[in-house]
Amino acid sequence: MTAMKDAAAALSHWFDTQQRTLPWRHERTPYRVWVSEIILQQTQVVTAAPYFERFIERFPTVGSLAQADLDDVLSAWQGLGYYRRARLLHQAAQQVMTHHDGRLPKTVPELQQLPGIGAYTARAIAAFAYGQRTVAVDGNVRRVGARLLAEPNPRDTDLQDHLDDLLPKHRPERGTEALIELGATVCTVKEPHCHRCPLRHVCRGQDAWWAYPAARKRTPPTSVHHYAQIWLDGDRVWLERRPDDMPLGGQWGPPQSDQPTHGRTVTTVRHAFTHRKLTVDVAIMPDHPPRGREGRFVNAHEATQLALSSLDRKILAALHDHGLLPWEV
Ligand code: SF4
Repeated sequence: MTAMKDAAAALSHWFDTQQRTLPWRHERTPYRVWVSEIILQQTQVVTAAPYFERFIERFPTVGSLAQADLDDVLSAWQGLGYYRRARLLHQAAQQVMTHHDGRLPKTVPELQQLPGIGAYTARAIAAFAYGQRTVAVDGNVRRVGARLLAEPNPRDTDLQDHLDDLLPKHRPERGTEALIELGATVCTVKEPHCHRCPLRHVCRGQDAWWAYPAARKRTPPTSVHHYAQIWLDGDRVWLERRPDDMPLGGQWGPPQSDQPTHGRTVTTVRHAFTHRKLTVDVAIMPDHPPRGREGRFVNAHEATQLALSSLDRKILAALHDHGLLPWEV
C-alpha cells in the first residue's frame, strides 16, 4: 500500500511538472470540458486544439449551442469528421436547456443519459468539470492499467478499482487526468518510456509491456457499392441534406443509394471508413431532381458554407476533374 501511495505522489508530481499546455485545461467550465471531451473522442489532441477554440468562440455557451441551427453546428465541425458527434452534442445541448435548467448534470448516470455521452466521457466530465473522484478508462488508461497489473484483458471495473489508489485525496481529478496524460505521452503503444515513468516502481508488466493489453481482433471492413446521382444546372450542383438516421446523416452531398441509377456513369470514387470500404459510381442524371426532398442547387460559394463529408468532397472533385463542374471544395 505504501508503494501505491508513493506512486500516487510521484504521479501527481509528474503531472504538475510535465503536463502539456492544452486550451481546455484553463478556464474549466463544465461546458468547455464537455465540448473538449466530445471532440477528443475521435480526434487527436494536436488536431483538436484549434478546432476546440474556434468552436467555443462560435458557440460560447450551452444556450448558444442549443439555439444554433444544426447546419451552423455541422459547419463549425468541418475538418473534425465523425459528424455524428456534432449532431448529438447539439441535441444534448437542447436537452440540457430543456430538462436541466441550462446546467450540465453532475453525476455519471445523469450525464450518461445525454446523447453522445458514454461511460468514459461521463466520468471524464464528472472529474474535470466537477472534481469528482472517478477513474475514466479510455484507451490510454486501459493500456497503463493493463501494464501496471500485467493483465492482458483487464475489465474496466478492475482497472477503476486498482487505479483509484493512484488518485490523490485532494483534487482527485488531477490523478484522473494524469493517468490519461501518462498513457498519451509516456506509456505509449509502441515505445513506453519506463525509465521516466512515475509508476515504474509499481508496474508489474514493464518487462513485457508489449503483451499488455492484448491486441483486440479487428473485423475486416465490409465492401459496399453505392450510386451517386448528379444533377447539374450550369455551375451549380444539386446537394441534399441526408436524414439524421442515415450514414453521414445531417451532412450535405449528392443523393446516394445502393440501387443502380438510370443515369450515365462518368466516374467511380473509392472511400474507406473505419468499418466499410465504399465504392461509389457517380452518374449524371438526365432529368430533374425529385420534388419534396431537402435539397437545392448550390454554387461554389454556397457549397463552402455547408457541412460536406470528405467522401462528398471527393465526388465533387471527381466531377471537377472530368470537366463537369467548374469548382471543387
Ligand atoms: S513503467 Fe512502463 S509499462 Fe509500466 S506504466 Fe510506466 S511506462 Fe507503462
